[in-house]
Amino acid sequence: MPLDDFLSANREFLASVKPGIAPRDPQRALAVVTCMDGRLTKLLPAALGIQRGDAVMIRTAGNTILPHDLAIVRSVGAAVHMLGVKEVLVVGHTDCRMAGDILPLLDGMARNGVDRAALGTNDPREFFGFIPGPEQNVREVVRILRESPILPRSLLVHGVMIDTVSGALRVIVRGDTQAESAGSPPPRPEQPAEEIPMAVEVVEGVKPRPVVKKGPKFHR
Ligand SMILES: [Zn+2]
Repeated sequence: MPLDDFLSANREFLASVKPGIAPRDPQRALAVVTCMDGRLTKLLPAALGIQRGDAVMIRTAGNTILPHDLAIVRSVGAAVHMLGVKEVLVVGHTDCRMAGDILPLLDGMARNGVDRAALGTNDPREFFGFIPGPEQNVREVVRILRESPILPRSLLVHGVMIDTVSGALRVIVRGDTQAESAGSPPPRPEQPAEEIPMAVEVVEGVKPRPVVKKGPKFHR
């Protein structure tokens, strides 16, 4: 789509819509973490009853958290500490391409003239963050956010799935159980060091282990 088409659409928008000023802090103290999938763009806010200014939206490919990609953790942290967010909704969706076959992506790389050697020694599935399944990923992201030392124990974290066709929600993890004990925070789960999410190392001032140690840069 040529840029001029966007500019033309913008002129029409300005002529008919007056968005006006919205509060900077999300009025429902909510952060929604979901996939970049374009089918969710209008569907998800509508399905959740979210209006402009209600919530922050954090979207990545497959809404997953990786050792080399803490975008969700840092974004939720900024939303909590700077914007007053008190509740997080992790939303997986049906038919997520990031839970499927990686061959189309590898074919796309070849078609676009990007040599697989550009990934160095990294496993492509791990580098791009393919997930074992949307529901399993929701559970894992909820767990990491709940256990992250940079987030308060009082933070409500729910996990749901949305049907990309009907917009129907299905609860995977309900955050109330954590909220019920907000008055007396539960002890942090005992974990071997190697199982602690990478965010722990960030807080302790240790840089996360980069997945890409050698080879060409990914950002061109
Ligand atoms: Zn997806």
